[in-house]
Amino acid sequence: MKLVFATNNAHKLEEISSILGDKIELLSLKDIGCHEDIPETADTLEGNALLKSSFIYRNYGLNSFGDDTGLEVEALGGAPGVYSARYAGGEGHDSQANMRKLLCELEGVENRKARFRTAISLILDGKEYLFEGIINGEIIKEKRGDSGFGYDPIFKPEGYEQTFAELGAEVKNEISHRALAVKKLAQFLKEIEE
Ligand code: IMP
Repeated sequence: MKLVFATNNAHKLEEISSILGDKIELLSLKDIGCHEDIPETADTLEGNALLKSSFIYRNYGLNSFGDDTGLEVEALGGAPGVYSARYAGGEGHDSQANMRKLLCELEGVENRKARFRTAISLILDGKEYLFEGIINGEIIKEKRGDSGFGYDPIFKPEGYEQTFAELGAEVKNEISHRALAVKKLAQFLKEIEE
């Protein structure tokens, strides 16, 4: 089965194609000649994931899925959430500035509980299916470790002493929010193929 993953992030494509296995021919935006910036203007993760999957289905007529992830901090009422990439403002994706802002907001705050949540929207023959992956953890007080990206150096998953950035890709890709959501997607695709 051919399936478009509405991303050009090579790292995500590789991670996801290894979970989906070789029965799914995974295509990137580049593979289908889509060079437009798909808007991410919704105010929920599910909404943004759907903007991506439906854009491809509508404009290219291909089955596809899109994802969106946010870091939800309990003491901040779920912020930065859908705004995680641009929490510190600007164009976004400035991880150092985002982490600085988050640590500042949490200064003196006892409750450090947080979770990463990924939403995946799949559109198959015009019908939408949603999948969710969550990993609970906490925001530590100082950055630790240097692998990964985004908020990894300050997020310690429940049941581990190390941060995502200390655990490294192998462990993280087994337990992460994204991995959990993709495993649900993979299971669903396997069931409908049978
Ligand atoms: P995206 O939807 O995967 O692009 O994620 C949005 C933002 O959430 C990223 O820019 C990061 O700041 C943050 N984020 C997403 N996934 C992770 C992760 O696995 N580790 C750390 N930060 C992440």
